[in-house]
Amino acid sequence: MKCTSCNKEVTDNYVRFKCPECGKETIRCQECRARSGAYKCECGFTGP
Ligand SMILES: [Zn+2]
Ligand SMILES: [Zn+2]
Repeated sequence: MKCTSCNKEVTDNYVRFKCPECGKETIRCQECRARSGAYKCECGFTGP
């Protein structure tokens, strides 16, 4: 699995969201999670 933000391979210490707009899964590593409060889906949705 890869972080959606930085494309880095993640094993543990990652978070997984499902976009409420399009249902696509977003994976974010610990670093990206610490860097930004919100995520942005490719469909344009932003959320916590
Ligand atoms: Zn990342
Ligand atoms: Zn989406």
